[in-house]
Amino acid sequence: MASIQLQGKIFVRGEIKTTTGLHIGGSAGELDIGGVDNPVIRNPLTREPYIPGSSLRGKMRSLLDRHLNRDLNKFIRRGRPQVRVHECDQLADYQSCPVCQVFGIAPTANMGDTMPTRLIVRDALLTAATRDRFAEIDTDMPYTEVKTEVAIDRITSAATPRQNERVPADATFGPFEVVHSLYTLNSAPAESIDREIDLFDTVLKGMELLEDDYIGGSGSRGSGKIVFCDLELTFKSRKYYENPQSVSVISLAQGAGVAALRGANYQSQIKAAI
Ligand SMILES: [Zn+2]
Repeated sequence: MASIQLQGKIFVRGEIKTTTGLHIGGSAGELDIGGVDNPVIRNPLTREPYIPGSSLRGKMRSLLDRHLNRDLNKFIRRGRPQVRVHECDQLADYQSCPVCQVFGIAPTANMGDTMPTRLIVRDALLTAATRDRFAEIDTDMPYTEVKTEVAIDRITSAATPRQNERVPADATFGPFEVVHSLYTLNSAPAESIDREIDLFDTVLKGMELLEDDYIGGSGSRGSGKIVFCDLELTFKSRKYYENPQSVSVISLAQGAGVAALRGANYQSQIKAAI
């Protein structure tokens, strides 16, 4: 019999700041008449731009795949452009693969039991402070700028402009939240919890890799640099969920950035609380 027990949840909360313009594309269906060629994604109710959790999570996973030299074995799309990703399809590979254990895999016949996804990354909305500040500035579109780029024919030098809508630099999104669950599988012995806690460093590593890369479109042309700031790391144990009156939420670390959290000795605090 397969079983899975939640041992606790680790939370990273903070804010995301853009240090360059940011373009996370909306769908064509959101195009307004008179809008730009390439709009950003917006909350359909407030029309404010936001950062989807799926964009953060997807980029972290792809950067970790490259960092850890994962085999790009699965085709998401075979046509052009082809899209290949990594997903372990053998149990032995999965058990030594931090990416698949953290981000999850689709169930396949080879893998037997369904494997849990440990990581949740929530959408990050524009902060009220940024919204108020941008409302006072005369931006091209509500809360965004329109950046015109020019493609140049290499022989005739004819220039073709194209427009790209971006959230300006120095916008803040938040609070954002990352939730990482700790599990013991099939009543594994207590020793397995060390490895389980170690998996969380993969999440912080992915966040740090993301800060040194970009999110959204036009990254190689200057867009999409973000930093995570004002971070707080907390833990709720299984005992907390059973009895929140007598067991408190544990504050593990606070830091200006991801590196500070990675350097904090949160592992032993979690272990003592389980
Ligand atoms: Zn894997």
